[in-house]
Amino acid sequence: MSLALTGPELSFQRRVRAFAEKHLKPLAAKIEAEEYFPSDFLRTLGRNKFLGAPFSRSDGGLGLGWVSETIVAEEVSAISAAAEMARLASAALYSAPLACFGNSVQKRRFLHSVLSGEKVGALALTEPEAGSDAGSIKTRARRDARDFVLNGEKRFITNGGVADYLFVFAVTDPGKPARSALSAFVIPRNSKGLEVVRAYGLLGMRGANVVHLRLRNVRVPRENLVGGLNRGFSIILDELDRERPAVAAGMMGIARSSFEEAVRYSSTRKQFGRPIRDFEGVSFKIADMAVKLAASQLLILHAARALDRGEPARKEGAVAKLYSTEAAFEVANESLQVHGGIGYTKGLPIERYFRDARFMMIGGGTSEIMRYIIQREVYKEVGRPS
Ligand SMILES: Cc1cc2nc3c(=O)[nH]c(=O)nc-3n(C[C@H](O)[C@H](O)[C@H](O)COP(=O)(O)OP(=O)(O)OC[C@H]3O[C@@H](n4cnc5c(N)ncnc54)[C@H](O)[C@@H]3O)c2cc1C
Repeated sequence: MSLALTGPELSFQRRVRAFAEKHLKPLAAKIEAEEYFPSDFLRTLGRNKFLGAPFSRSDGGLGLGWVSETIVAEEVSAISAAAEMARLASAALYSAPLACFGNSVQKRRFLHSVLSGEKVGALALTEPEAGSDAGSIKTRARRDARDFVLNGEKRFITNGGVADYLFVFAVTDPGKPARSALSAFVIPRNSKGLEVVRAYGLLGMRGANVVHLRLRNVRVPRENLVGGLNRGFSIILDELDRERPAVAAGMMGIARSSFEEAVRYSSTRKQFGRPIRDFEGVSFKIADMAVKLAASQLLILHAARALDRGEPARKEGAVAKLYSTEAAFEVANESLQVHGGIGYTKGLPIERYFRDARFMMIGGGTSEIMRYIIQREVYKEVGRPS
């Protein structure tokens, strides 16, 4: 199996890169400085068919599979990780479970307009008392005639304050273990009883919209239940497996930009009468960064190709996310070091890369949870000694 990008994938990558350079680069400073949510960029992405590349054409995508999603994630994030967060939440976190588990009416009503960029989506799983332990969510959905009525709170919801539709997980059978107690619903933003309690200020990812939501007697028709009653937990697991390679690729985008800046700066900055790249203390950092980028790329492609073959990719996705997110932070940190004092200032994007790169060791499942998943899959593979 070749891990390298194929000819068509390379040409897709070139198109996405050129697109991001043209449409996102001019916005990147504004997104950061003004905490500007890039809704216009999302619309342009959708109009140009770059949202939902992995999904089938009949679902409104391009039918290019999950490798294409990692390409888009890397290219967008290489310019603005906050814009990538907004894109990922709408076009992957919200859209993947609908594309995989929604029926044709739900896709027509709630998916097509998000993939075309007219509408924005968000995925609401995390709660004040349920983070890493997602199965312990408390938001309750009770049956009331043909409807469900939802009550609860959701915290840290990316796009939550701007989304037209929310993909929400809630408990429908509290008597059962999580595996068969949860269900998934699409909730339109204008539903009565759905309110934004607060927007979070963040260390990095400035411009991303991350909020705390409250649901008070939010009434949802039965038609908005996705994937069947009490099927929510398997939808969560499937969604997380699909998002991990793209999350990893987004962080690799930041790492790539940090690396390129470090190579450039170390070639031009002179101390002791010569470019600082002539000192091994600097150039070996560049070597280590190059290794981390190459390893990240291979792990991400390995996981995305498994998804594209329809194979289980739980361990592969966790390995890719764990390695690439930690590597991205190390690369951003070393790039800042190579830049010296100027890297610590707002004059260059280096300090932004450093702050942005910190996030995905937490979001989408922490590094500790990735290690937990990996060891569990390893021991499953070897079995118990008899
Ligand atoms: C900016 C931002 C955006 C987000 N966007 C979304 C979103 O769009 N939708 C959504 O649903 N959620 C979202 N999240 C939530 C995110 O997925 C959670 O923050 C994350 O899963 C961790 O949960 P927690 O914050 O509750 O931490 P906790 O689960 O409380 O963890 C705290 C610490 O304990 C460790 N820990 C917990 N359990 C274990 C264990 N079993 N073994 C070892 N260590 C453990 C963790 O690794 C961590 O270090 C977002 C979060 C942030 C910060």
